[in-house]
Amino acid sequence: MIGEDAVLQVAELRTTFFDRGKPREAVRGVSFSVRRGEILGLIGESGSGKTVTGLSILRLLPEHAKMEAESIRFEQHELAGMPDSQFAALRGTELAMIFQDPVGSFNPVKTIGWHLRHAMARRQDSNAISAKTWQTDPLLLLDEMRIHTPERILDAYPHQLSGGMLQRVLIGMVLALRPRLIVADEPTTNLDNLVERQILDLIRHHQRRLGLSVLFITHDLTIARDLCDRIAVMYAGEIVEMGPASAVLDDPQHPYAASLLRTARSLEQHEATLFELPGEPGQDARQRSGCRFAARCPSVMSPCQIDDPPLVRVSPQHHTRCLLHVQ
Ligand code: SF4
Repeated sequence: MIGEDAVLQVAELRTTFFDRGKPREAVRGVSFSVRRGEILGLIGESGSGKTVTGLSILRLLPEHAKMEAESIRFEQHELAGMPDSQFAALRGTELAMIFQDPVGSFNPVKTIGWHLRHAMARRQDSNAISAKTWQTDPLLLLDEMRIHTPERILDAYPHQLSGGMLQRVLIGMVLALRPRLIVADEPTTNLDNLVERQILDLIRHHQRRLGLSVLFITHDLTIARDLCDRIAVMYAGEIVEMGPASAVLDDPQHPYAASLLRTARSLEQHEATLFELPGEPGQDARQRSGCRFAARCPSVMSPCQIDDPPLVRVSPQHHTRCLLHVQ
């Protein structure tokens, strides 16, 4: 049953890709919830399964992938097993996604004004609103996205805008849909530092103002610390640690989460010898028995090679998947 304050509750999500018929597991047994009005950060190295998790929830996987789940509860809807036609009515209205590269979200032969009007028309209750608000008027919306020359932007085509400007417009389009949940996949990765800060401020401002729930996918721990209320750390397709952002980032319990933080700290402090986690989280980790992190873990023990660690509670809201914490 969905928790009272959860907008999204995912149970036992599993996604497999098929490479010439050969299965390649990307995500295994992932369970988490996104609460009303919170930003849940999904973090991990590239290939950890965080983006695939977001794409799986929104049914945006390529054809050679298969997603299964015990349950994906979104508000009053059960998404697992919902017919595509029914799901299509939710995606792009109540469930929305902000991609890393905004270009793919725009039709290159249509103006920005056309895109904003199109997004506004998708709102289910748009006919019921007569007063102009920033979510129903393209000019006011661009102003809300802190774009200083909205009239000029309305007539522009996507290729005429910078990446940062296009990402602001995309965020505006998504907010005009008034979604209940946004999945944001590394939305600032290709932007310079100043523009990145501005976009993150914009997301936080509107998230708080509208009480939005956001699943924020990132590999950047500084962003996760600044933006997220809770964090789930993924490794080789599994969640290995989950809890309040301060608990996970200040007192990580899983050796992988601790290594990620040590690497980030080493970079931030410009240490002469950067700490680097040895090895890579390749497909091998997903095929081995026992703990998937064992080949890279500085605390590995003999049972780690055999036993699959369960996700255990280390404090009321903080969980980790490590045999060091199993009584
Ligand atoms: S279960 Fe063992 S190998 Fe896995 S993270 Fe814990 S100590 Fe390391």
